[in-house]
Amino acid sequence: MNFWNPYLETLPREAYDQIELSYFRRMFSFSKEHSGLYRDKLKGIEEKDIRSLDDIKKIPFTEKEEMRKYQEVEPFPYGGLLGAPIEKVTSFRQTSGTTGKPIYVPETYESWQWRVESWCHILYMAGFRPRHRVFLPFGYNVYVAFWEAHFASEKVGCELVPGGALDTKGRIHKIQEIRANGMMNTPTYGLHIAEEAKSMGIDPASLGIERMLCAGEPMPPATRKRLEELYQCHVFDHIGGTEPCAWAGMCEAKDGMHIIEPFFLVEILDRETLQKEVDEGEIGVAVVTPLGRRSFPLIRFNTKDLVIKGKNGCSCGRTSKMIKEVVGRTDDLRKVRGVLFSPKTVEEVLRKEFQEVEEFEIIVERRGLMDVITLRAEANPGLTVSSIEQTKARLRESLKVATNLSFNVIMEPPGSLPRYTLKAKRFKDLREEKRNE
Ligand SMILES: [Zn+2]
Repeated sequence: MNFWNPYLETLPREAYDQIELSYFRRMFSFSKEHSGLYRDKLKGIEEKDIRSLDDIKKIPFTEKEEMRKYQEVEPFPYGGLLGAPIEKVTSFRQTSGTTGKPIYVPETYESWQWRVESWCHILYMAGFRPRHRVFLPFGYNVYVAFWEAHFASEKVGCELVPGGALDTKGRIHKIQEIRANGMMNTPTYGLHIAEEAKSMGIDPASLGIERMLCAGEPMPPATRKRLEELYQCHVFDHIGGTEPCAWAGMCEAKDGMHIIEPFFLVEILDRETLQKEVDEGEIGVAVVTPLGRRSFPLIRFNTKDLVIKGKNGCSCGRTSKMIKEVVGRTDDLRKVRGVLFSPKTVEEVLRKEFQEVEEFEIIVERRGLMDVITLRAEANPGLTVSSIEQTKARLRESLKVATNLSFNVIMEPPGSLPRYTLKAKRFKDLREEKRNE
């Protein structure tokens, strides 16, 4: 059986549209009635005004900033974001707060079950089955993705092994000890485990991981390939967030990600005006409405995720809309010397062409009137001193071709750059830090 829910995953386009419109209207009225944020925000618009999916475009986006403001009121700590009586809330989660004050996310039992069910689609699509013993190498804390992964694994029938409270070496030993054959991690941490295993004299491929599900940061195709080579396994990607939930995942065809319809209404809008849907192959901003979660209603949440819109239809037989690739965050896109630059392009080049580079960091700063962009590349322990200059020259050339920018390249000794266990912070725009001082 290839589908988690054969009926929902193979509906004709018109049926998805019809169901999503009707769910959206229902969520619209529910939000207006039960959440302080939407009582204010949707004033003057009525459910009867939404007659087609086009009409949805008239409704304002929900931005993280206003959510912070609305959670300041009673009932603590969710305030006007809460869509259910506070006594009904059964679990507390929050965002990591990397971009400001965290958003607190309430889940009622019912909403949590909805969330877990949609996550089962992600896991099942990536080929996770009851035969898999899945290692989750993190302490879960208050971060929702781990809990979703945990509960959805159980629901799919996998055997989930929680790997918190261990260091990386301890986790590698645990994977060996219990013979885990599945893993879920950030791409960065997957690479880090492999590196650590090698330093212990263990070939990552010998760990026996068959399937890996990644998330948490954009994964360029070359990084996915590198993980597949290191572990000799299948690696899948998915995208989501604490507020909107996980809303798209990669199937076994590995040719883009399926939007989990009809759980989510996803719009991919042109990034200049945020008005019209982009065409296939174009980059747009993902705007997501979860269509069944009532404890924390969200209407047209601006995820600020930049994605390439995918084709319709897939060899796996699923009929949902697709995205081709995650490009990054609108916050990560910067102008350097007038050129639009995405750090993900650099990662793609490094992982694809430079096996001798283990870690990296990109720094943009202003010297005089000029933006200077520097790549600090950490050499693999196997790199000889004589080949360092050669690598530097190749790096400058490849990066120039890929980004149209001239990089200042510095090679750093093995182990000198920071390692990340969750989301990596490999891009530093010092021009901005100066502005914010
Ligand atoms: Zn597919």
